[in-house]
Amino acid sequence: MAMHRVALHGRHLLASSRLLRRHMSMEPQAAVTRLKESGLLKTQGLVGGKWIDSYDGKTIEVTNPATGDVLANVACMSGQETSDAISSAYNSFSSWSKLTASERSKFLRNWYDLIISHKEDLALLITLEQGKPLKEALGEVTYGANFIEFFAEEAKRIYGDIIPSTLADRRLLVLKQPVGVVGAITPWNFPLAMITRKVGPALASGCTVVVKPSEYTPLTALAAADLALQAGIPPGALNVVMGNASGIGDTLLQSSQVRKITFTGSTAVGKKLMAGSANTVKKLSLELGGNAPCIVFDDADIDVAVKGSLAAKFRNSGQTCVCANRILVQEGIYEKFANAFAKAVQNMQVGNGLAEGISQGPLINEAALTKVEKFINDATSKGANIILGGKRHSLGMTFYEPTVLGNVNNKMLIAREEVFGPVAPLLPFKTEEDAIHIANDTNAGLAAYIFTTSIPRSWRVSEALEYGLVGVNEGLISTEVAPFGGVKQSGLGREGSKYGIDEFLELKYVCMGNMKEA
Ligand code: NAP
Repeated sequence: MAMHRVALHGRHLLASSRLLRRHMSMEPQAAVTRLKESGLLKTQGLVGGKWIDSYDGKTIEVTNPATGDVLANVACMSGQETSDAISSAYNSFSSWSKLTASERSKFLRNWYDLIISHKEDLALLITLEQGKPLKEALGEVTYGANFIEFFAEEAKRIYGDIIPSTLADRRLLVLKQPVGVVGAITPWNFPLAMITRKVGPALASGCTVVVKPSEYTPLTALAAADLALQAGIPPGALNVVMGNASGIGDTLLQSSQVRKITFTGSTAVGKKLMAGSANTVKKLSLELGGNAPCIVFDDADIDVAVKGSLAAKFRNSGQTCVCANRILVQEGIYEKFANAFAKAVQNMQVGNGLAEGISQGPLINEAALTKVEKFINDATSKGANIILGGKRHSLGMTFYEPTVLGNVNNKMLIAREEVFGPVAPLLPFKTEEDAIHIANDTNAGLAAYIFTTSIPRSWRVSEALEYGLVGVNEGLISTEVAPFGGVKQSGLGREGSKYGIDEFLELKYVCMGNMKEA
């Protein structure tokens, strides 16, 4: 039985009736027939290597935010399916964790190769269900696949230690062992990469996983899981359940067989998962919301600053956790930067991500659009001016005009919280000290960007910023080889890089005593 999203979650109640009517009239799955390998369109969950429906037969619609078309009806799962997925992962752990690193590495490498050879199909699914332009979606597939390749290699480098002993007849060792079953909960804004960034290191280290993708973007997750099966990753090592978020989340939290939760999403849900993990004392990795400052100093190269801040702001239509949320511009360069930046923003093409030349797709849903409007109204009512855009796009649906706001200050809502939309607020500042103070005046601490031609300043400011990532003269800095993660309320732990695998490992100290001479 198909069940519309509106009936499932209060936050979807904002969907317009026009959109609803359109859903009803569309033939399900029409757009996804463009897949080269039609078998990649999965609508069931993956439990113990088998594709299954939800036990009560409920489904949930996955729609294209650019058109309102229904792409598929996928299984709407909850607690019982999740319990079974946990049991499968638990049972599979004993054999998967005992494989040699080289054997696990080969499975991951196979998976990487299959993701790359199916990159057009995966990118199409990402654009259809999430809305980002196809070129960006292809970029996400490569970026996401790189985590699998990187951790396939890292699997072979999980070294322990031998500690010089304090007693002559003892030998002191440190073993690194997989944590166990991992619950991985991911958001809609990177439907593939947020999964591979977790599942890559988890499987590489010997853990098994239950993934819960966002209800908005399960199709990419399910296609990637199908490729994992094709790659030979054994049944139960990777399970996927989706649907009722709190039902699935609570089951993962309450299970003593789940030893770790790794989550990417909002700070509010991250806090709930942190509290819910207390009862069974699970290990936690949290990649939460940001409020990235992008600081443009008087001495910046203006072309580099415009290009970098544009990329940092408008990727995925402003819907990334590392998006520049506040563009701080020093007074001496403010007018010049504002003009050049607004000109560049004006050239961006808005539309369906499948069309040629589009750089700005739709927002994920009506609630996202309403949030953007609320933040802009708050800013303008407190003295900000609209330099460009500032309203819904004439294309309708959830398209919004790329917008530039001037004279924003750090007290406005738009500077306090993530806008998660295509709105660039410009905040004038006087001194380097002021910029650092404004930048750090937030509970978030994920990404920050600075634009300056002064090497001493780039060091000083990078060190003073209370953030987990800093881009200097660069707006796109994320890569599988560098640690990604935030400080303060932006999260716990790091993903990617040689550090990322530690999140899925326990240290075990082994003391070998009475090692006397024969
Ligand atoms: P969200 O609402 O927190 O959702 C994230 C995931 O949590 C989704 O799978 C969601 O399921 C699930 N969820 C919601 N309520 C839950 C509950 N009670 N128990 C268990 N799971 C629950 O975030 P979002 O709107 O999808 O994503 C945007 C946020 O993610 C932004 O704040 C962004 O900054 C952050 N983000 C952070 C990073 C990072 O690396 N730091 C990267 C990307 C995004 P449903 O979608 O099915 O409801």
